[in-house]
Formats: sequence, C-alpha cells, structure tokens
Amino acid sequence: MKYNIATVSGDGIGPDIIRETKKVLDCIGIKYNHQFIYIDKLAGGCAIDAVGNCLPGETVEACAKSDGVLLGAVGGPKWDHLPGNERPEQALLGLRKQLGLFANIRPAIVFTELADACPLRKESVDGGLDIMVVRELTGGIYFGEKGSCDTKLGPAAYDIEIYSEEEVRRIAAIAFDMAMKREKKLTSVDKANVLESSRLWRRVITELSVDYPDVELSHMYIDNAAMQLIRNPKQFDVIVTTNMFGDILSDEASMITGSIGMLPSASLGKGNFGMYEPIHGSAPDLAGRDIANPMATILSAAMMLRYSFGLYEEADEIERAVRSVLASGYRTADLMGPGMKPIGTKETGDRVTSFIK
Ligand code: NAD
Repeated sequence: MKYNIATVSGDGIGPDIIRETKKVLDCIGIKYNHQFIYIDKLAGGCAIDAVGNCLPGETVEACAKSDGVLLGAVGGPKWDHLPGNERPEQALLGLRKQLGLFANIRPAIVFTELADACPLRKESVDGGLDIMVVRELTGGIYFGEKGSCDTKLGPAAYDIEIYSEEEVRRIAAIAFDMAMKREKKLTSVDKANVLESSRLWRRVITELSVDYPDVELSHMYIDNAAMQLIRNPKQFDVIVTTNMFGDILSDEASMITGSIGMLPSASLGKGNFGMYEPIHGSAPDLAGRDIANPMATILSAAMMLRYSFGLYEEADEIERAVRSVLASGYRTADLMGPGMKPIGTKETGDRVTSFIK
C-alpha cells in the first residue's frame, strides 16, 4: 500500500527526530511492502523565518490532503519576543483547529526496561504501566467566551466552560472505542459535584455507555483522579476528560513514566485521519547535536500506523524494536543510568531499524 505522510519537522530537535523516524518507517516499508511518501512542510519558527507566518496555508492544505501528519516540535528562544498570537506554538493550535482534530490521545507507558525512571514507589508500577488519556481538545474553558468586567470587588476576568452534548458524545465515542481495543475499562473524569457542564458531560457519557455493554465505565472527580494517578495508577486503563482537566492529567500521567523523550501522542478527528507528535517540545538546547532521544517520535509514527493506517502488526513491530534497544542497555543521555551504553540520536534510529530488518 501507498501512504502520503505530511512531515512537519518544525524547530529545534524537530528535524533530528523526524529524520530518524523516517528511517524507521522506511525500514517497515521495505519489510512489509508499503510505500511511505513524505511531503515535507514548514510550520513554527522556521516558517516565520521563511515566509513570515508560523502556519502557511500550503502546509495546512498538504496536511489535509495527506493520510496522516507526523510533527516534530515547534518553538524556541529565537521567537520568544513575538506577541502570543504570532508565536510558533500557534501553528499547533491552527493545525488542530483547521484539521478538525478534537481528541488528543496520550499513552502513558512505564516500560519495564525503564522502571527505574518512574518517580513512584516500585510496587505501584510493578510489571509496567499502560494508561491511555483521551483529552477533549477543541472545546471547554480554553475556547469558551472570555473577557474582563467590573465587579463589586473591582476589576475581574472570566473564562466560560461550555460543552455541547455533541462535543461530549464524539470524544466519548473515541474513548469507548479505544477501551474496546484495550482492557475495556473507561474512567470519565469530571467535577460533577460542582460544575453544570460536568453534569452534562457525565449524563451524555452514561447514555452512550449503553452502546458499549462490554466496557466497564466509572466516573471520578478530577481532584480524586489526580490523587489516584499517584496512589494507584494501575487501576486505570482509558481515561476520558475535558480540555483543561486533560491538559493537567495527561502531563501528570506522562511524568509518572519519568521520561519525556519516550512519550508519543495523537490528535484525532472524525474518521481515521490524525496528527502524530511527541509530547515534548523542541528542546532548542539539544538541536543538531545528535543527543536528542527520537523514540517518542518513532513511537508516534507507530501510533499513526495503528490508528490512521490500520497497520497493527507493523506498529507492534516498531514498539517491540524500541523495547529491544532499551533491553540491550542502550540509552540516550536523557535516560542514562549506571551501567548503560550511551548512544546518540542517529544511532538510536539505526539500532531501532536493526531490530526490524
Ligand atoms: P521541552 O520539552 O522542549 O524540553 C524540556 C526538557 O526536556 C529540556 O531539558 C529538554 O532538553 C528535554 N527534552 C525534551 N525533549 C527531549 C528529547 N527528545 N530527548 C532528550 N531530552 C529532551 O520543553 P521546553 O523547554 O519547555 O520548551 C522548549 C520549546 O519547545 C519552547 O519554545 C516551547 O514553547 C516549545 N514546545 C513545543 C511543543 C510542541 O511543539 N508540541 C511542546 C512543548 C513545548
């Protein structure tokens, strides 16, 4: 099969990690007889430098026409002086919005080979940990009406949390489908004891659960969920939550794994289309120095194969190859520990491919 992948390397370490990821995809292509065609496009600071706009129209167009988007990272100190709405990071919001990507999927996996990096007690993650956080991405308080006003106590500001039933239903469907492919457990996180929008959220998700009788649905308040993730993370399989709660919980879940260079993510819309990127930023301090860890991006490509292209075996193979590199004791600087063998960005890509060939 032939797949068109829009590749947006972006800034900082973006080009380094995308280069290694293409290497791994090409290797999968040869082994499984697929053709991956890359359409390289600009976004972020490099696009500002080249065309004066962090998200050129032709980038959005190419992404929309592609079968999937693979993104490195954007931003860096060079563009920090720009006003908020002109900064490179706006490219991410623009892409999500214009491509209709309303669900952010982040696995938080503690690889048994990296269990020492986890900041929790060893028994909390014994045997590894695998949680999937599904966050609503285009609604809620971040996109509700906002403004300032005068009150009896003086000047004030407000942001409104608003969710329509349809917005809740479509993110919940993604989470239920995800749970069906995993352990069939879904925890919906809200603040229904206080917020009207959370009561609607909970009602719509409960209604939808009738269509998924095999999935065990539970509800949890956000404050309790934040605590339970630290106390007993293994109780979770799939978590679904709002934009703001998800922003916080997905970072918390990621940090449990202790290794920012290992974590992929996907932003999905209706159908199979998605944008795939590591959760970390552009790490400008590491750019072009052959020290960044490309594994999060390589694992993002595996997610693309699984969720957008339906290539399950190929995705599993990439994930197995990553684990094999770790199991052989090779580590980039961010994961380095006693007795481990140091490798750089390029060698990581080479070693992952060597386990695929
Ligand atoms: P960052 O994720 O770039 O870096 C945080 C720390 O993690 C740094 O010490 C960095 O060296 C390290 N790190 C990150 N990725 C790594 C990797 N693959 N291998 C090894 N070490 C890695 O976050 P930051 O420093 O807050 O932000 C830097 C820039 O990235 C900023 O301009 C920020 O706005 C941008 N940013 C972009 C995205 C994105 O494109 N999705 C996300 C977050 C931050």
